[in-house]
Formats: sequence, C-alpha cells, structure tokens
Amino acid sequence: MSFDPVELDSTPAEPGYDTDVLVVGSGPAGGSMALLLATYGVRVQMITKYSRLADTPRAHITNQRSAEMFRDMGIEHLLLREATPWELMSNTTYCTSLTGQELGRVPSWGTDPRRHADYLLASPCTMVDAPQTIVEPILVSQAQKRGAKVRFDTEYLGHEQDADGVTTTARDRLTGAEYAIRSRYVVGADGARSKVAADLGLPFEGPGAVAGALSIVFEADLSRFVAHRPSVLYWMLQPGADEHGVGLGVLRMIKPWDEWMLIWGYDPAMGPPDFTDEFVRDLAVKLVGTDDFEMRVSSRAPWTINHHFATAIARGRVFCAGDAIHRHPPNNGLGSNTSIQDSYNLAWKLAHVIKGLAGESLLDSYDAERAPVARQIVERANKSIADTGRILDALGLSDTSDVGKLEERLAVLRAPGQDGEKTREAMREAIAYKSYEFNAHGVEHNQRYASGAVLPNGTPMPTFTRDPDLYAQPTTWPGAKLPHAWVTRSGVQVSTLDLGGKGAFTVFTGIGGEAWTRAAATASAQLGLDLRVVSIGPGQPYEDPYGTWADLREIGDDGAILARPDLYVAYRVTTAPASADEATTQLTSALRTVLGR
Ligand SMILES: Cc1cc2nc3c(=O)[nH]c(=O)nc-3n(C[C@H](O)[C@H](O)[C@H](O)COP(=O)(O)OP(=O)(O)OC[C@H]3O[C@@H](n4cnc5c(N)ncnc54)[C@H](O)[C@@H]3O)c2cc1C
Repeated sequence: MSFDPVELDSTPAEPGYDTDVLVVGSGPAGGSMALLLATYGVRVQMITKYSRLADTPRAHITNQRSAEMFRDMGIEHLLLREATPWELMSNTTYCTSLTGQELGRVPSWGTDPRRHADYLLASPCTMVDAPQTIVEPILVSQAQKRGAKVRFDTEYLGHEQDADGVTTTARDRLTGAEYAIRSRYVVGADGARSKVAADLGLPFEGPGAVAGALSIVFEADLSRFVAHRPSVLYWMLQPGADEHGVGLGVLRMIKPWDEWMLIWGYDPAMGPPDFTDEFVRDLAVKLVGTDDFEMRVSSRAPWTINHHFATAIARGRVFCAGDAIHRHPPNNGLGSNTSIQDSYNLAWKLAHVIKGLAGESLLDSYDAERAPVARQIVERANKSIADTGRILDALGLSDTSDVGKLEERLAVLRAPGQDGEKTREAMREAIAYKSYEFNAHGVEHNQRYASGAVLPNGTPMPTFTRDPDLYAQPTTWPGAKLPHAWVTRSGVQVSTLDLGGKGAFTVFTGIGGEAWTRAAATASAQLGLDLRVVSIGPGQPYEDPYGTWADLREIGDDGAILARPDLYVAYRVTTAPASADEATTQLTSALRTVLGR
C-alpha cells in the first residue's frame, strides 16, 4: 500500500526557527503526533530522552479508533501484520490460577456474538492487541520516512514562549551539551511524569497516585493452560490479589502463548518490593498454579496507578497530549488509544494554522475538545478497578487475605443448595458487569466535541438509545465522529472514513447536491484549502448498495456533511439551499468559523 501525503516538505525551516513543531516524547502520543504532522507536510522534530523506543510492552489493547488513525495514515497493514488478531482477544478469564478453579469468562473486546455486529458496524477496522513495542516503531519509523526529524538521547529541560514561538532547552545525554531549539509550537507528549505539563503549571484534579503495581515480563510456553480459552487477560483471585494494584493479580498475554506480563499490586506507601529472582518466580508460580514450566524474565518494573487528569491541557503555544494530561490504570485499555486520539485531534489544527489556512483560535478547540475526554477516561478506568470488587462481594469476601475464608467461599461456588445457587448467580452478574471494562465500545466512540471548531446547526444532540458507555451510537450531529458505512466505488467496497481524512476537509453529499460540489470548489479556491467532495447515491461516484449510509447520514439526499481531517463532523445542512450561491455562502462561512478565519 502506498500513501499519498497531502504534501511532503523536507525544506529547512524558515529563518528564526529550527522547526515548526517540537514534539517531546516518542510514545504513542508523540509518535503519532510526529507521524501526523510529517504526513500533513509540517516540519516537525521529535526529541526523546532515551536511546530507544519502548523497551517493555505496556499498553496493548489497540481499539478501532486508533486503528482508524493508522488506516487514515495508510499504515493499518503494518499494524495488522504484527499485532495479535482480534479473534485471539476473545475472552477475559477469571480464575484462581491458570491451573486452578475457573470462576467465569467475559467475552471481550467485541468478540461476543451478541456484540460483534456493533463493532463491525462502527468501523472498517478491527480491534487488535499491539503492545507499545510494536506500535511505537511503526509510528516513529513512518514519521521519519515522511520527513520528521528524530533525536534520541535528548532530554527536554525547559521552555520559554513569546509571541512568535517557543525556545526549548534540551540536553544531549551523550555529550551533556545543552542547546536551544526554536519552534513555533511545542507538544509535550512526555508521559505521566511530564515536565512540560509541570512547567506549564497545568491544573490537575483527582487524588493522584492511588496504588502501586509491579510488571514482570517473561517468556514461558503456557499454551497448555490457555490456548483453549484465548484471552488477553487472565485475572487471578488469590490471597492479597485485591490489595492495591489493578483489582486482582493478572497474567497478560503479550504474544500467544509464550510471552507474558505478570501484574501484581504493592502498597506505594511501603515502596516496591525487592524484585529478586526468587520473588519473581514465586509470584509467577502462584499465578500459573504449578511450577512445571520454564520461564525467562526480560524485565521487572514498579509503576504507579494514578487517578489524575489535567483540566486545562495547553497554554499559549505549548500543548500537552497523552499521559502528560491523563494518568490512569490500564483497565479498559484506554492509555495509548486516548493518547493517539489527542494527537489526531491536535495535529491537523497545528498544520492548518502553520500553513496559514486557519487562525490561531482554532488551537483553542484542542483544550475544549480533549480536556473533557481526559477526565472521562481517567474516571472510567478507575471505576473499572472498583467494579472488580463486585466479584469479591459476590463471594462475600470483603478482602481476599484470609486464605481459609477464600477457600471456603470458593467451595460454595461448587456446592449444591441455596447459598451455592445465590453465590453462583451473584458471581455471574459480577463477572458480566465487567463488560464496562472489556466491551465499553461507547467509551471509545461516543465523544461529542463542543468547541469553536464545530458549528452547531440548531438540532439537539441525539439522545443515547442504549447505554452510552457500552454501545457506540453513530450520528452526523456536529461534534460527533463521522459514521462509518460501507459504500462502493465501481462496485468495490470502501468505508466512508476512507473517503475523508488524509489531512483534508471533505463534504459528503448525494443526489441533487451539485450546489455543494460547486460551493466546495469556490470555497477551496477562496480559502486555499484542500477540500474534497464525495457524492454518494445511485449513479453517483459512490453508491450505497446496502442503504447503510442513507440510514446513518441524518440529512436528505441533497444535504451536506462537512467532515474535518480527523473525521469528526464540523457542520451539516439537511437539504440544499435554494441556489448554488447560497450553498457557497453557507459552506464558506462554516469553514471560516471552524478555522477561525
Ligand atoms: C508498566 C506499565 C504498564 C502499562 N500497561 C498498560 C496497559 O496494559 N494498557 C494501557 O492502555 N496502558 C498501559 N500503560 C499506560 C500506557 O503505557 C500509557 O497510557 C501510554 O504509554 C501513554 O503514551 P504517551 O505517549 O502519552 O506516554 P509514554 O508512552 O509514557 O511516552 C513518554 C515519552 O516521553 C519521553 N520523555 C519523558 N520525559 C522526557 C523528557 N524530559 N525529555 C524528552 N523525552 C521525555 C519518554 O522517553 C517517552 O518516549 C502502562 C504503563 C506502564 C508504565
């Protein structure tokens, strides 16, 4: 697959600037920011503190929204080639150990037949499991191919901004030399201990560090315990497993079925335990439930479980993205996905401002649109830890530290009689409730942006007809993600999402929408914008043989939907106005408003 970028520009920065955008950090947020900006034809430099990209797997659930960004950038195939496919993500298993009593399973990540169609209908992309060790090299190597300059072993030390740009002080960690980098804008994607966010004095809410967790990555062939019940996560109810940590003890698949991450809680007030070989082996044996396996440990690290989000995410010419502004546990798998979406939201705005196609006020919409998402996902992930408590409640265990009581209550699960039946029912309900962690499709798709970069058309936001956390509800209401529908070109199936994006605005219309086609040509010439028109309907360049688009578009055949480069709806009109001139006036005015011109 080849990619046709809007514009590739490797010319040196204009005098006075080393680059247009300096990105600090090469994680999912920074990597995608560099890739997007380079693809959009913006000069971008990325500095990153270490000599390498992620050396541990960390975030792994890669949801459809992230995959859509990869698809828009023309690199979805690289992700699919390396990731563990959707079908192997099919369960979340609760048990006492891999060889112990199984308590139940949650069909996960949209693989439940009762949920699968929801996922297939929402996106042309699949869910995949792709640890950061897979995602980061793809993002960063593609960013470099498209012109981004990357400096490893380079530490951000501080910055000063003025009316025209930002001067960042960086240290070359190989030589110790400190030097300045002058850019128009800076993006702080420097993770949960973000110095950029601290230097900006961003306000945070939430209790902060709430628990501690240990991650131990190891190779061990455990296929005989797991291959018959493929899961990304195996959660273990064991004495002490609910103390601190992510809810219970976890064995997380990294590569099926011979690479694993073990997660176990620790009390941050006491500090992490000593990771001796013996300690690590004992923990692994406890969770596997037998010592009849060989293992080779590749990393061991303590980390903090946070409940912390920034309520303002930018100041002037400096923006923060990713864990720099939302710090939360891995539950729901929202870490790198949200970080990538932050960048998807901001990159086109920076590109349009830098190219002189938008006013600086467009950049204000980043905070308006993404700060509420930071709050939402931090609350969601922390709630998922609390929800795990329902499983212990179902067993009548306020904590799991009393081994005798744990054994006794687990025996009730297998016993005949009223107590057993009641406990089994409560357990089934508690485990099924975990769908809010493992099938929270709405959390991933239902953001509705309200900002200057969205033009309301006076219609109220459609109310959610199903649980908005669990179910994605597509709409073309301005501020929502453009709905996906399979349409055809010359009979070949293509997603509506494929017809937009790629750094440009797109007008979707249909039969009778010629006024919009003419309006788009005029607006494009007047504003110097890359503005595409897609007409869908019988006899149009794109056809809608299944009628899905007609069901989803919420406008008439001759209406128009204006999609932003990040595939969010900026504006919509239900029917064509009386004249082509009126359509031109409406579309140009909408674009001027959205772009702050
Ligand atoms: C052990 C562990 C396990 C995790 N597991 C999961 C999981 O299973 N699922 C999940 O969704 N999330 C998980 N997370 C969280 C997930 O890793 C983050 O949400 C995600 O990495 C955020 O991406 P980011 O780009 O914002 O930050 P990061 O990935 O943290 O990247 C920050 C980048 O900034 C660089 N940097 C930092 N300081 C400086 C500086 N001063 N100068 C220059 N560069 C700097 C770093 O080198 C790095 O490149 C885990 C995190 C940890 C620590």
